[in-house]
Amino acid sequence: MGNFAALTDRGVGLDAYLAWVSAWLATPAQDDTHDEGPIMTVDEMAKIFQDKILGNLLKYNIKHIITSFCYRIDAQEILLGGRVAPSCNETNIIKHRYDPKTECTCDGIYPVPPGATLESVFQGCTAVKKMVDMASLVNDKEDEWNPQHLFTAEDLRNAVAELALCNADEQPRPGSCLGPASATYLLFDSIQAPDRCPSPTVDTELSVFHQLYPTNEQIKILADAKYFFAIACGGTLCDEGLAKAIADSGNNVLIADYCEAAGNDETILLLQDVGAAAMAFLKLCNLAGVISDWQFDNTVAMIIQFQVLGYYRDHSRARRPQGVYGSRMTGTLAHRYIDLAVYIGVLTASIGLGGEQITREQYEILAESSCYINDLIDFRSDTMRRVRENVILRGIPGDGNLCRYLDDCISSCLRLAAEAIRSSPVSALVVMGFCNWGIMGSHHKLYELFHGVTKRKDPNPSMCEYISGASSSHYQNLLDALDSRGYGTLGEENGPSVAKRRSDMDILYHVYRTSPGTQMAWLADCTRSLLHPDTLRKIVDVVHFEWRGQTGDVEYCP
Ligand SMILES: [Zn+2]
Ligand SMILES: [Zn+2]
Repeated sequence: MGNFAALTDRGVGLDAYLAWVSAWLATPAQDDTHDEGPIMTVDEMAKIFQDKILGNLLKYNIKHIITSFCYRIDAQEILLGGRVAPSCNETNIIKHRYDPKTECTCDGIYPVPPGATLESVFQGCTAVKKMVDMASLVNDKEDEWNPQHLFTAEDLRNAVAELALCNADEQPRPGSCLGPASATYLLFDSIQAPDRCPSPTVDTELSVFHQLYPTNEQIKILADAKYFFAIACGGTLCDEGLAKAIADSGNNVLIADYCEAAGNDETILLLQDVGAAAMAFLKLCNLAGVISDWQFDNTVAMIIQFQVLGYYRDHSRARRPQGVYGSRMTGTLAHRYIDLAVYIGVLTASIGLGGEQITREQYEILAESSCYINDLIDFRSDTMRRVRENVILRGIPGDGNLCRYLDDCISSCLRLAAEAIRSSPVSALVVMGFCNWGIMGSHHKLYELFHGVTKRKDPNPSMCEYISGASSSHYQNLLDALDSRGYGTLGEENGPSVAKRRSDMDILYHVYRTSPGTQMAWLADCTRSLLHPDTLRKIVDVVHFEWRGQTGDVEYCP
């Protein structure tokens, strides 16, 4: 608990960060007048940020620091992730105005010809071509942004190919214990799930929500990712101002994933500006030694790689068949290693835990367990919306039994989550933060699925038994892993649960997240609830449980 000072003064760090963002937004990017005084040196700026609680910043002319910082960036005197300073906007995390929207009129790469390679398919689609071009551009300049600890040029190349070819090798429909594929085809073609919009009856009224969980842009799906994942992973051990800066530094990740849901160009501009302000704030903390190179540089690398994958759009979505079937997948992590952005959570956790690092091996376990959680809880909805990034969906074997396959996926999910929790305190916090976001983030609609699914009676009401079920050793192993870290519990009445309304939990979490003890217990309870095998099965098992209802705005945030 090395950050005790940060804890007692967490309000000051937050005030400093908010003052920084406010001054940044009030300083035009082209302001190079420097009428506030002589341009500060990098050392002079770093000294101001050396105070761990960041309170010093409030005593200075922040606008002067900002214009000086931007001057030093333009003069290529400041490293941003790499060994040499960025030479173009695309590798400059502060300057790049990232917007992945591309004009494309193609109707997608489908069907993918047998034996197709990345080179043979990408020219036809502007979005895919942009992704491929950006990947080679940033990989050519890897020295400018990548410390090469956790993320490599090869990772990015593999991820790009994985996405571009994800509709290749379409598999036959699987059978299930309801019968062979030929007899059950139509059942699975009409799978439904709730849409991803906030719900008026389950979520907090939006104006109240944005007071409880304030952000500049005030968009629920983005605020959810910031508070329920990025900030939560700090376990209230990370200074609140730093945690907020880290969450905002991921704005480009959120633009990549949710730019269609984020609304108009003005919102995108605001997200870009605040993201740049946050990244500048973190860089100054890095220069001051408050954040390590490992922490800062890997954040830059993750975001640059994520931005590249963010150009990808699947324009063939509307033309592809409905239903459950696999297609090309070279590995669970081939693109998910990058495009789940779990490193954002690692950063708050690592700072909260006094600088602890994790190895690439530990990061892989963490990313894979997060991938299982993410793609299992979105499985029903991704199937309905024909979103093929989901690896649970793509991994369905054509000659297999869907029941056994989903059962195996749940077992793997529980095993990997327990392994990640045991592997390091940082990984444990991030897995738990991911579960928190799963339950609390409104677009996952887990409350609605949990209460809304019914047992399928037709053509056969009998259910197979899942070996991952509650009596299996996997769940007990997960509970033991959580207990071994001593997180405790808030109990059924006060703690979070998939079964509880998100509006009730928004209020409870607002209180419990103010101290590390109750925050950790909350996160552990989220993990116990979400990863309970009976709960996961209801969410995932499209064979024996069906959801019927108002599907709402299916195209919101595809
Ligand atoms: Zn296209
Ligand atoms: Zn079955």
